[in-house]
Amino acid sequence: PPPQTTEKEVAIEAVNLSFKYPDGTLVLDNINLKIYKGEFTIIAGLNGSGKSTFALHLNGLLKPTSGKLLVFGMDTKKRQNSSAVHKKVGIVFQNPYTQFVGNSVEEDVAFGPENLNVPRDEIKQRVSDALSAVRLTNLSAQDPSSLSGGEAQAVAIAGILAMETDCVVFDEITSMLDHKATERVLNIMEELKNKKKTVIYISHEPKDVLKADRIIVLDKGKVTFDGKTNEYIRSEKYPLPDLIHFMKLLKDGGYDVSEMVSTPEEAVEEVRKF
Ligand code: ADP
Repeated sequence: PPPQTTEKEVAIEAVNLSFKYPDGTLVLDNINLKIYKGEFTIIAGLNGSGKSTFALHLNGLLKPTSGKLLVFGMDTKKRQNSSAVHKKVGIVFQNPYTQFVGNSVEEDVAFGPENLNVPRDEIKQRVSDALSAVRLTNLSAQDPSSLSGGEAQAVAIAGILAMETDCVVFDEITSMLDHKATERVLNIMEELKNKKKTVIYISHEPKDVLKADRIIVLDKGKVTFDGKTNEYIRSEKYPLPDLIHFMKLLKDGGYDVSEMVSTPEEAVEEVRKF
């Protein structure tokens, strides 16, 4: 590889980060990682591996039990950093219905920027841009609690987009979305990346992996893989049944995959060529 000429800027840095819930369960176990500005990173791992707990650290909602987390250089443990950290990192959570605060979609999306004291005219513009990005302009007057799962998730995403944070975290947001809505959300993530935003996507869906530059895998609170997505796909760590699924997606996506494979061994071989 060519020598790196420019130093990448760090958005998120975990240093010996460990976290225990009050009941004593150790959920994050000495995590060390850096996520760079403008990067699209997937955090993957099985259920219970600590992904959501890590996400909650990213805007300071949870704080390390030991070690530290730096958000754009700011230590989240320092109380004086908390509002600045909130302005830097927006998180879209799994269950959109628990996130609604407004009586209408429009009001709900405006809530975030209002809290950041954005001027009124600019809020209007941001709400309109965010609703158009998630294609919900026609639902702006609706009561958010009356929406379908996919629409509700889109409102929650618009609310975070309207805050215009440098880093946007999506925590397993596709669980309530159908294929089309998922594709739309993945496109929004790519648009954010094109705008030089730092995108962190928490997902255990193998098909989403392709979209990211980088993948961090958690297992029982430890980082077990951290690297480029194509290195991960080629590595032994990728679960075999997923490999076959992945092959099919590559083929559907127009990638040059010579033949559909019938055994895990063939799949491994094919994917290694990718
Ligand atoms: P993931 O997002 O990868 O599914 P989580 O971060 O949600 O993982 O959970 C990791 C572990 O932490 C699980 O064993 C879960 O039971 C535990 N856990 C999550 N929330 C709490 C809590 N509030 N109190 C105690 N343990 C928790």
